Amino acid sequence: MSDRFDLSGKTALVTGASQGLGAGFARTLASAGAKVALAARQTNKLDALKSEIEAAGGIAAAVSMDVIDPASVRAAFDAAEEALGPVDVLVNNAGIAVTKPFLEMTVEDWDSVLDTNLKGCFLAGQEAARRMADRNGGSIINIASVLGQSVIGHLSSYCASKAALIQLTKSMGLELARVGVRVNALAPGYIETPINSDFFHTPAGEKLVKGIPQRQLGQSDDLDGALLLLASDASRYMTGTVVTVDGGFLVA
Ligand code: NAD
Repeated sequence: MSDRFDLSGKTALVTGASQGLGAGFARTLASAGAKVALAARQTNKLDALKSEIEAAGGIAAAVSMDVIDPASVRAAFDAAEEALGPVDVLVNNAGIAVTKPFLEMTVEDWDSVLDTNLKGCFLAGQEAARRMADRNGGSIINIASVLGQSVIGHLSSYCASKAALIQLTKSMGLELARVGVRVNALAPGYIETPINSDFFHTPAGEKLVKGIPQRQLGQSDDLDGALLLLASDASRYMTGTVVTVDGGFLVA
């Protein structure tokens, strides 16, 4: 493997790191050599992951961050940088979905999804980019979704948020190239995690899996290649792009 994939000496911050894909991203970045700031609203939920990374020889710190609160975002970057040094890689992973028919979607549902999935990435992305620009280098990875490029029913606010996040990624990539900051999106397809696993064993879930050309769900570690590519210097000539990892879902 090219040593351009090596993250030794770099610091990465992952939002929403307490479970699911975010916890997986943190493990993967740590195993590639990065010091990892684990960010979540409740830091006590990060204790086990921090211990696990440290037991494997890695370096991690837990920081409190609510991505929809600008003061909390700023304080989390301060805490991460104090513990681990300047943040070189931001993974904007925190995200939520409200599953409801469009006609029943409330303003509160809409705001919670757009605030977390879009405004949260703007706030953390801007905070990271300002600091990275001062050092003329950094990589921001926005976790989008295939549902930012296609739609399914009952997820209108989620699909809209992820489509907007892809456009935000392109705008940030365009503007921040001059200051050495790269911004790309990673768009997963259907990835099995503890919170969605049960659904995929229902008739509706099984039908959905049959619609994926590879006829199987992705696993968290199927995102490792794209994550390490975008986080590392191996992608030094990539910005403003979307890397999709979906078993062929989007071409079906
Ligand atoms: P998850 O619900 O397991 O994890 C989401 C994390 O975000 C949780 O730790 C949650 O606490 C955190 N979070 C929510 N609101 C937050 C806030 N205001 N501040 C800080 N943290 C907050 O979901 P997941 O499946 O691991 O998804 C992670 C990301 O990947 C999301 O952006 C999601 O849209 C995206 N994604 C997931 C899949 C999939 O199949 N699992 C597919 C495509 C995209």
